[in-house]
Amino acid sequence: MRGTEHVALPSALGRVLAEPVTADRDFPPFPRSTRDGHAVRAADLQPLPAKLRLLGQVKAGGTFNGSVNSGEAVEIMTGAPVPAGADAVVMIEYTSPSASHVEIQRGVKPGENVVPSGAEAHAGDVLLVAGTRITPAQIALAAAVGRAELAVYRKARVAVLATGDELVDISEVPGPHQIRNTNSYSLSAQVVQAGGEPVQLPVAPDEERKLTTLIHAGLNAADLLLLSGGVSMGKFDLVEQALSGLGAQFFFTGALIQPGRPVVFGEIRKNSRTIPFFGLPGNPVSVMTTFDLFVRPVIDAISGAPPRQMLGVCARMKQAFKTKTGLTRFLPAMLAGGLYDPVVEIVPWQGSGDLVAAAKANCYLVVAPDRELIPEGELVTVVLR
Ligand code: AMP
Ligand code: MG
Repeated sequence: MRGTEHVALPSALGRVLAEPVTADRDFPPFPRSTRDGHAVRAADLQPLPAKLRLLGQVKAGGTFNGSVNSGEAVEIMTGAPVPAGADAVVMIEYTSPSASHVEIQRGVKPGENVVPSGAEAHAGDVLLVAGTRITPAQIALAAAVGRAELAVYRKARVAVLATGDELVDISEVPGPHQIRNTNSYSLSAQVVQAGGEPVQLPVAPDEERKLTTLIHAGLNAADLLLLSGGVSMGKFDLVEQALSGLGAQFFFTGALIQPGRPVVFGEIRKNSRTIPFFGLPGNPVSVMTTFDLFVRPVIDAISGAPPRQMLGVCARMKQAFKTKTGLTRFLPAMLAGGLYDPVVEIVPWQGSGDLVAAAKANCYLVVAPDRELIPEGELVTVVLR
């Protein structure tokens, strides 16, 4: 299992919890009023209006010494403990207090507007289990039980190795037939977003010996190795060959998807460790898509969390769309339309090298492999990025 470290609570966002978080007391620790109003005995509110004797008031953080007997009420604020004897709170909107009495215009059921002590959790209950990826709501829960620090798993180290003779670094001016290496940057950003720590290696040329040397460097440095480019059928696509030369075991070579068809996944043993790797396609859109589809769940698993599932949401197709059957498509698309009428529109693109189109998209439109024509207005599946 992964090593752990302790982090201050605010820094735990996005990390994977390595210990259970338990309730240090009952939640709520006292019967809590959920309204501003008057604490009463529900049975007293018949007939209406009912006139009750006002005993005093209790605010959040305070307490009322004494108890509410039949015919009595205590003014109460949201978050304050309901006094003994009272069993419900009447909202302030339905009361008319004077100096010594309060007139109540509406009845309440016993328990109304009161959360009983221990209703949310009991002291000692496990509130968060190890393996939880921490969100803001879980930060709030940890704060509620007084955890200024949490034990989390160390981040997965993910080596990023781009391949291709045509690539130059972003600080360089490319020659007329060269391009800047974008995959190392998009992959590193996706690794960060997935909760990992990227280790960016220098670009590997399309030459097996140099490529092999850099693969070794990646395997030494990381828990997971991501390569981009060189996995298609071209003459200079040497990645699978180089990995095979190192004794790699392949789990799959290719997937029936578009973009991203050439993606490969496997593992290599090195220095008595087994390191998983992905050979991702070189095309800049394909590499991002295959990361979302395949790499993120593996980073979760390495990080000690259950692999996140892709969740589809439904949206209406803005315009009819024609495609070919045979592959599941994850097309760059734009989801808009707001809360109650989500509408999705394909971003026009020049294929899986079109970064300009990809940068306009906020989701994938998922098209099943047996579909050729999607009519306007059809409810389709969209995966948010
Ligand atoms: P490959 O899979 O190596 O055949 O590459 C497919 C396409 O993606 C080619 O047009 C490459 O120039 C391009 N490409 C490959 N690697 C990168 C990279 N790191 N950054 C930007 N484009 C790339
Ligand atoms: Mg290449």
